[in-house]
Amino acid sequence: MINKIKNTLKYRQWLISIAASIGIFSVGTSIIIAQSIKSYDANVLTRLGSVVSIIETKLESTDEIINRIMPLTGMPCSTAEHKLIDIIVEYAEFQTLNIIKNNIVACSTNSRMVNAAYVTSDKPNNELSILESSVVTPGKIIGAIKEVHNKNGVLVTFNGKIFYSILEHIDDSDNFRIQSSKIWFDKEGIIHYSTQRSNLMVASEKYNFNINTNVSTQDYVNEIIQNNTFLIILFAVISLIIGRYVFLNAQKNSSLFIMKESIADNEFTPYAQPVMDSNGKLSGLEILIRWNNKHHGLIYPDVFIPLAEASGLIIPMTTQLMENTFNLLTTVEKKVPNDFHIGINISAQHFDKTNQQSLIASCKKYTDSSLNAKTHLVLELTERQAIHDYDETQSVFDTLHEMDIKMAIDDFGTGHSTLSDIKNLNFDFIKIDKSFIDLIGSDAIAAPLVDNIIDLAQRLELAIVAEGVETQEQLDYLRTHNVDYIQGYYYSKPIPLTEFIEQYFT
Ligand code: C2E
Ligand code: CA
Ligand code: CA
Repeated sequence: MINKIKNTLKYRQWLISIAASIGIFSVGTSIIIAQSIKSYDANVLTRLGSVVSIIETKLESTDEIINRIMPLTGMPCSTAEHKLIDIIVEYAEFQTLNIIKNNIVACSTNSRMVNAAYVTSDKPNNELSILESSVVTPGKIIGAIKEVHNKNGVLVTFNGKIFYSILEHIDDSDNFRIQSSKIWFDKEGIIHYSTQRSNLMVASEKYNFNINTNVSTQDYVNEIIQNNTFLIILFAVISLIIGRYVFLNAQKNSSLFIMKESIADNEFTPYAQPVMDSNGKLSGLEILIRWNNKHHGLIYPDVFIPLAEASGLIIPMTTQLMENTFNLLTTVEKKVPNDFHIGINISAQHFDKTNQQSLIASCKKYTDSSLNAKTHLVLELTERQAIHDYDETQSVFDTLHEMDIKMAIDDFGTGHSTLSDIKNLNFDFIKIDKSFIDLIGSDAIAAPLVDNIIDLAQRLELAIVAEGVETQEQLDYLRTHNVDYIQGYYYSKPIPLTEFIEQYFT
């Protein structure tokens, strides 16, 4: 049952913390990946842009050269031809310079062009065309720019190498390509008419071409692995640390959440175990809390008291338990024997400044009730937990004693309180811990320990209760050693208070 509730909580905890880890890791890595892609793209675009400007620079003397040739168009070719040759030697990038008459090359630096090459009037003037050469270097790329008015004018051509030789100097992996109208080529200079995939491109603003490339997922992955592995590992570690933090917090919160709900649902119920005097006569009871959870059944205090104490929920829990106990006992108060002891376990937290009033108020309800006339309320404070504030505790003890409430030191012998602490706090009862009672009848080495602890208790001159008495032998021993009260399975296990009432008070 306990395992079931623990498993539910564990499952929820794992779920929340894994979700947190994955969430943070995904957000972190998404940012890193997005940033890497962005900067990778920006870098590629810059390089594409620089190729565009290099090519533009190579073409920049075109206007000037066309202006120089234009006056020659009126001359006879025999004169113009020499002048064209004079001009072309000044500029390395040009392949041919031509004078157009009637849309056909009439005069050229390369005689093969004459009457073989022509221009079409549908192409605008001063615009770059990149095309496949058919005259001077058939099958190879050439560039061409014309300025023709009324079928007469100038045509200049460039060797395609001025375009693709630049690509050779670019990083191999980039795979940059030049595209103009319907054709494209890469650094090999081979013309393609097919369509190509590209996702990054920079177009020339001045001329009709662009440089593009297709960055693949693999390229991005390589980039990320190369530059961001450390960051991603760092994020993974941070995510795990946060996940662990969430795990621990969820553990606390989910158990706390369920416990708070259970207080509201009144799921914490009083069980009672009888306390007998040395003659075996019922002299009181100890209230032991049980959690009767609607999903997981009966849960024992060892499981939830530590968390209730750590979270402070022990305060409302005790208030509720005391109220339930007093209400139930009030219903049978006529049957309750005189001087009957009602033991309630309290925690060191009850003496903290913020909680004292809650404990005193619960006790006040008891002293104001009719139950008070016949019974004694005994608050059991364990020795296992250290007292937080000794002075505060003492002042609350004084208040409680003034109200005629009795105090018992629980689990005596297991803690660190000194005899003077016990004396100063004015306890009324000592409850010897079960671990000592268990030693009775055991080996000769351990037995004196029991004698010692009883002796110590007796020297404090307080009433003694022996806890966890299970056998006749233990009972006989305790009787011969004048222990006043006996509690344990020998008489009864803790049973629901309602059952206890039925058994003893009806
Ligand atoms: P405790 O105050 O020392 O209570 C005695 C414990 O010993 C009880 O365990 C009881 O069932 C068990 N016991 C009694 N006689 C015998 C016996 O003969 N043999 C054996 N083996 N066990 C015996 P339980 O009810 O599980 O409570 C455990 C502890 O939880 C208590 O120890 C007490 O410290 C704490 N606790 C219980 N109820 C409350 C509560 O309402 N408030 C606070 N603060 N603590 C509580
Ligand atoms: Ca107790
Ligand atoms: Ca005990």
